[in-house]
Amino acid sequence: MKLLLSNDDGVFASGIRVLAETLSKTHEIFVSAPDAERSGVSRSMTLFEPLRAKPTKIEGLPEIPAYAVSGTPVDCVRLALGNLFPAPDIVVSGINLGPNLGTDVLYSGTVAAAHEAALLGYQAIAVSSLSYKGEFLETAARVAEIAVDYISEHPMDFGTLLNINVPGIPYEELKGIKVTSTCIQQYELEFIEREDPLGRKYYWPPHGRTSCSDGMDVDDRWAREGYVTVTPLMYDLTDYPRLRNMQLSLPDWIANR
Ligand code: MN
Repeated sequence: MKLLLSNDDGVFASGIRVLAETLSKTHEIFVSAPDAERSGVSRSMTLFEPLRAKPTKIEGLPEIPAYAVSGTPVDCVRLALGNLFPAPDIVVSGINLGPNLGTDVLYSGTVAAAHEAALLGYQAIAVSSLSYKGEFLETAARVAEIAVDYISEHPMDFGTLLNINVPGIPYEELKGIKVTSTCIQQYELEFIEREDPLGRKYYWPPHGRTSCSDGMDVDDRWAREGYVTVTPLMYDLTDYPRLRNMQLSLPDWIANR
C-alpha cells in the first residue's frame, strides 16, 4: 500500500526514521514532515505566509521521497495530500517520542496530523512511544505495521483516527493490547521562574503531569502497566447529554429571566 508518514517531532527525528524503515519493507512510503520540532502545536495551520517544502532524505533510507516542510504537522499533511503526494491509502503520524495519552491528544501535533488526514477522508493512525528517549522504537514500529494491516481491513468512519500508544520496551515484553478510552491528565501549572542575564524574568513551562486513572479502564493506566493502547478518536467534542438537556431547558430559562 501507499503510506504517507508525518509527525510533529520533525522530519529528522528518530521516530519517523524507524517508522519509515519498518513500513518501507512492505509498503510504498512517502514522508512530509516539519523541518523542525513542532510538538504541542495541535491543529494549528499556516494561513498568512507561504510554505516551503524542501526535498530531503531520511537517514539510511535515501530512496524514500521525503519533504521537510516549513510548517505545522497539519500543514505537512494538507500539503502532501493536496500537492506533493495525493491519494495514499493510509496516513501514519509518528512515532512520537513520548506518550499521547488522554487529554494529551488535544495538544499533540502527532495526533493532529492524523486527525487532519481523517477529516480529509483518509484512513489515519497516530503512533506514540511512551519513551521520550526513543528506547525500543522498533516495538512501536511493529505495532504500527499491525495497525496498518488492521485499518486496511477495518476502515474507520469519516473523521475517525486510531490513536495508539506503545510502551518503550521490547516487543516480547508487551503485556498485550487494550482498546480503551482517553483519560484526563492534569498538567502541572506553575511555570519555573528564572532570570535572564539582564535581570528580566522568564518562565519555563513545567512538564509534570498526573493522571487520576488508577484502576480505571483508560489509556494512561493500561499504558503504564505495559499494554499497547488503542483509542478511536473523532473530531466531535459536543457534549450530547448536556446538549439535549440544554435544548429543553435553555428556551425556558431565557423566557423567564
Ligand atoms: Mn512530538
